[in-house]
Amino acid sequence: MKSLLPPSAAGSLPKPSWLAEPEKLWSPWKLQGDELIEAKQDALRLALDDQLQAGIEIVSDGEQTRQHFVTTFIEHLDGVDFEKRETVRIRNRYDASVPTVVGAVSRQRPVFVDDAKFLRQQTTKQIKWALPGPMTMIDTLYDSHYKSREKLAWEFAKILNQEARELEAAGVDIIQFDEPAFNVFFDDVNEWGVATLEKAIEGLKCETAVHICYGYGIKANTDWKKTLGSEWRQYEEAFPKLQKSSINLISLECHNSHVPMDLMELIRGKKVMVGAIDVASYAIETPEEVADTLRKALQFVDADKLYPCTNCGMAPLPRHVATAKLRALGAGADIIRRELAA
Ligand SMILES: [Zn+2]
Repeated sequence: MKSLLPPSAAGSLPKPSWLAEPEKLWSPWKLQGDELIEAKQDALRLALDDQLQAGIEIVSDGEQTRQHFVTTFIEHLDGVDFEKRETVRIRNRYDASVPTVVGAVSRQRPVFVDDAKFLRQQTTKQIKWALPGPMTMIDTLYDSHYKSREKLAWEFAKILNQEARELEAAGVDIIQFDEPAFNVFFDDVNEWGVATLEKAIEGLKCETAVHICYGYGIKANTDWKKTLGSEWRQYEEAFPKLQKSSINLISLECHNSHVPMDLMELIRGKKVMVGAIDVASYAIETPEEVADTLRKALQFVDADKLYPCTNCGMAPLPRHVATAKLRALGAGADIIRRELAA
């Protein structure tokens, strides 16, 4: 039975230290071959167990089988040369050495479908699977083939749709596309960003979500946030178009960020995953703090459409911090559930 206010994590969870070096993005694997496959599955089961113990209702793989939320998907595609690297500015924020698109991009085989089947076998809870969104994918590459951000985004949207259909067939209940780039490239979002996202979800019968945030709690992002002033109104740019789109859920950052909560009015009618956990701080929220954020959100989101969530993925955090934050999320949602029942 679907309960009211089902909590979920927005994205990644930290990996065990025997699988990959902790508190690091793009952390290399510590094992290889069959040992690595088995270790990833073990880590996935632990991530699932942490979520269940915390009262998380919509569970995920915690991204235990991927090194990075964008790069790992792209690594599985043809047309991208990971040896040929160029330095580009990611989301207008920091320079990174990225792979080059050298030819037509295509997906020869499923990327995450086996992992999703494995997760499906482990639980009867609703499962959510994250994929990168088209716009965020192109922002993490140097393109020497299409030479058009829009063209490349459409190609990725077609590939994502192939993967999404197979994830749906594997029993995934919610497919989420991560589009932090939607908070940066406003003209592109409105000209073709939302349209490519709709291409990625074309024909799906499962629920679909888009996660838009201010990024992981890494220095490049926290430095950028300092430049955004006292009121973060970035969501204002994409929300009207998303409200009219066929995406079912919108995942946004809330707790400890300077996003005015009334911006949620712009997506009235959508289910909203409200970030009630700050991923840029080691301080563990209390259940009451989580409840307070959710209570405020209820002014703008109907209770049956409110999905308590984290602001973003928690991969860079120490594992015990992330686990405690998940527990606070579950307990905070519980407080509001009891209030609504009373
Ligand atoms: Zn995020």
